[in-house]
Amino acid sequence: MQQYVVGNWKMNGSRVETARLASSLVRKLSEAERPLPRIIVCPPFPYLGLVHDLLHNTTLKIAAQSCSQHLEGAFTGEVSARQVSDMGASYVILGHSERRTHYGETNSIVQSKVSAALKGKLQPIICIGETAGERESGRAVASIITQLQESLPRNIKAEQFIVAYEPVWAIGTGITPRIEEIQHIHGVIRQELSKLVSPGGIVPILYGGSVTALNAREILQTPNVNGVLVGNASLKLEDFWQIIQSSEE
Ligand code: PEP
Repeated sequence: MQQYVVGNWKMNGSRVETARLASSLVRKLSEAERPLPRIIVCPPFPYLGLVHDLLHNTTLKIAAQSCSQHLEGAFTGEVSARQVSDMGASYVILGHSERRTHYGETNSIVQSKVSAALKGKLQPIICIGETAGERESGRAVASIITQLQESLPRNIKAEQFIVAYEPVWAIGTGITPRIEEIQHIHGVIRQELSKLVSPGGIVPILYGGSVTALNAREILQTPNVNGVLVGNASLKLEDFWQIIQSSEE
């Protein structure tokens, strides 16, 4: 399966900084000497169109960082999947732990957003992951399985989505699980996906949480890790490029 490297820029950067980052990435891409993974960048909503124009005619793809669970109408401040798609995005991150924690996004809301994304012709990148407390009390696997089961709409097909395993305690902390732990959890997710959709083996499973230029290669070589979702390090061109270069051919 082709690997994925996804850069989540979160709520960072001005118009000028965002344009500089996107243009530098395009320049790097044009100088690449080896086959590259599927690269997706996730700018803040206001810069989706700008980044789309800069990435035009490249293989780089764009994701939004969220979208509304509603299709359209009187939902002040919300952005619909169709609008995101209209601005040039092909993917959308849903259920990120920052959305779950700060904005009360439950599995049921994530499920509605996944349905809305599919209707808006976006491929959702569905984030799941245990908290530190769940991990310490031995409930990591149960929590991840519940999130997966409850975030997927009943009729979703295997080719329509991507899963990102992001342990909440690893996001932005500089701490990552041991490679054996990542391998174990990704194996559990793969097994569960095989029960939920057919064939479960084709759903890409990304790892996210403090991925850096230094640890990316080992993580990307782990069985059932089909790519990485990168926060902080995706804002630094050289680091992000090194992570891209760490992907498997
Ligand atoms: C994220 O927010 O999805 C993430 C993985 O962040 P970081 O790489 O900074 O831990």
